[in-house]
Amino acid sequence: MSFKTTCPYCGVGCGIEISRSGSAWQLIGDRDSPVNQGMLCIKGQTLLETIGTDKERLVTPTFGSWDKAIAKMVALFTTKAKDEIALYLSGQLLMEDLFVAKKFANAFGIKNLESNSRLCMYSTVEANKRAYGDDIVPVSFDDIYKAETILIIGSNAADCHPIVFNHIKKSKAFVVCVDVYESTTAKKADLFIKVEPASDMVLINDLPNQDWFKNKKTLSVYSQGLTQSTDATEKVNALINAHIKTGNINKPGCGVLSLTGQCNAMGAREIGIRTSDLTATEFFSTKQIKTIWVMGTNPVHSMINYRKIKNLIVSDFTQTLTTKNADIVLPVCSWSEKNGHIKNSERRYLKQNAFLPPAGESKPDWEIVCLLARALGLEGFDYENADDIWQEMNIDTTWTPQIKVRESLVNIQVQERKNQTPVNNVRLLTQWHGMTRTGKSKTLRKMTKVNKEVVSIHHITNRELFKDKEVELDKYSKQPCFKG
Ligand code: SF4
Repeated sequence: MSFKTTCPYCGVGCGIEISRSGSAWQLIGDRDSPVNQGMLCIKGQTLLETIGTDKERLVTPTFGSWDKAIAKMVALFTTKAKDEIALYLSGQLLMEDLFVAKKFANAFGIKNLESNSRLCMYSTVEANKRAYGDDIVPVSFDDIYKAETILIIGSNAADCHPIVFNHIKKSKAFVVCVDVYESTTAKKADLFIKVEPASDMVLINDLPNQDWFKNKKTLSVYSQGLTQSTDATEKVNALINAHIKTGNINKPGCGVLSLTGQCNAMGAREIGIRTSDLTATEFFSTKQIKTIWVMGTNPVHSMINYRKIKNLIVSDFTQTLTTKNADIVLPVCSWSEKNGHIKNSERRYLKQNAFLPPAGESKPDWEIVCLLARALGLEGFDYENADDIWQEMNIDTTWTPQIKVRESLVNIQVQERKNQTPVNNVRLLTQWHGMTRTGKSKTLRKMTKVNKEVVSIHHITNRELFKDKEVELDKYSKQPCFKG
């Protein structure tokens, strides 16, 4: 017996095939997947080690039953003004979960709806709108094999999006890496250009003068090194401008590709970005928000301005720093127990298929939202399964990588920037984010070596940022995190 599904970690979206013979399970890369053609990085290869080994798995809702937990939530949602309530979603959720959460927010009148995708994606969304008139991703992974030059800027793809980097290395393209440190990607590139922090705009503006850029079919690939800075939108636009000026756009092998972080960061980017005047980080800093429902993410670990929220509700599959701080914890199905879709970096819809029953009393995220919606008297939340939701979403999955777009040059000024503190938490090849899942794999734990150079930047930066806060080291990642 074998099942096909999709890796739940990064925005590459590798297909995997799981087979079972008696009590023995086997996991391999899906050779038929157009994304990875059978390749998997070490995180994907060790996914089965994270199943059944989680001593912190959440299996029962707070107060001991779903009826009691939902009743408590009804009380919270009906005694607060709507603008005091927020839903904070995640790129780990499936399209169906995001759709139902947004439908619920609209039906109940909650404007404060965001996803953690906003943190890394918003600059790209705005830049795309300025350049193309819409948030369009006009390239695909196939373009990697059609490019003559591949510029990797602000991205350690070799560690963070390994299968995309494998494609890049398998291609015949000349690979140029631009970064502030000699990352794994830099070491494997044909040309490494080291820039000082905050000086990359000068280099981006000069790209149209570089032979390796202007006279070749060039594909640029970037991630958070570009998008998490004070003028990130300008940087992305400057990069797109360089492609427009050299004609390196809207042709096979040419264009600009943002590597999305989480498996469904793209879906969350489309569904949950900018629905209110508050930003995602403001949800956790403003006193306006009294009740917040966090689904599938760990802001106590990751939000530098997290403050104690009065009524914190958290849906997750395992114990995290955020669930430890929560008033209500709702156990959700893990990756192996959920059905639905994700959308990867190239905007391809991919299917996740459950191959195990829900652990304990855990439920899919969408089902929990429906429980609350029905308890609040809302109609249209009686789906039998994820397929019902997908039908209602009525998405055209016809995928067109080459989209003709309106192109307009945005006038970019190189700003003088002084005393900028680079804030960037790198991702390790062998671990995923806060390690709540990968930290439970024996192989990955064994393989994880701390890169002292990178982590020292992170710690110093955070020590400065957290100087007025009480900080503890996270159990798995050993990164500084807020104390409750
Ligand atoms: S590259 Fe990303 S999607 Fe592919 S196996 Fe690795 S973590 Fe999973």
